[in-house]
Amino acid sequence: SKNKLIVGNWKMHGSLAGNALLLNALAAGAAKLNASVLTAVCVPFPYLAQVQTLLQQSCVAWGAQDLSAHLAGAYTGEVAGSMVAEFGARWVIVGHSERRLYHQESNEQVVLKAKRALEAGLTPIICVGETLAEREAGQTEQVLGQQLQAVLTALTVAQAERMVLAYEPVWAIGTGKSATVQEVSSVHLFLRRILAAVDAKLAHVRVLYGGSMKPDNARALLAEPGVDGGLVGGASLQAGDFLAICQAA
Ligand code: 13P
Repeated sequence: SKNKLIVGNWKMHGSLAGNALLLNALAAGAAKLNASVLTAVCVPFPYLAQVQTLLQQSCVAWGAQDLSAHLAGAYTGEVAGSMVAEFGARWVIVGHSERRLYHQESNEQVVLKAKRALEAGLTPIICVGETLAEREAGQTEQVLGQQLQAVLTALTVAQAERMVLAYEPVWAIGTGKSATVQEVSSVHLFLRRILAAVDAKLAHVRVLYGGSMKPDNARALLAEPGVDGGLVGGASLQAGDFLAICQAA
């Protein structure tokens, strides 16, 4: 139904020289993709200018991996959404589990960041996901429900309509062990039920899957009707792998 969206999350990887090779390969390869697939890369802040220069003539969009919960001010080391937007970015990842876990980001902060992103004209890709301990304790739906409800309570329907959700089970990230199609499908249906209970308009919200998505498992995951795309970590650092995932979409 919706066009699939494939977003690369480079995390803390890159160098000007390496990025140039990767971005030029992506721009060239993306031109041959089916036009119904939307693609983007979310890069470290210092590379936004480079990405803007090298991708602006391409069909690949770009964004950041985080933004400040504040608009501007005395917040040393923080980067505002308006700054990210100045570099032509369309997307920003919000509430990635690596932010939640290593930087103690709460649901409340994730919500503030999502609001700041929308105000800056960026589309927040809001990540939710359970840890292995939570899954094994049978708390998956409870955890995901809390993460999503925090967002839905704070945003208006008009705002929530503009977000993208990403289901990223923490135990599948960087482990080479993707969730099964069955597991992903069941969680995506659960998230869609919560969205639908708030407002029928939220049926438009894209829900991506992330966690060890690779060329060899992408087709099956992306074939699920409830899976509107992928958030790709490791495999987004190789142009061939990333483009193969885009082709599978
Ligand atoms: P991997 O694809 O490396 O598992 O990372 C997934 C992820 O965290 C994307 O945001």
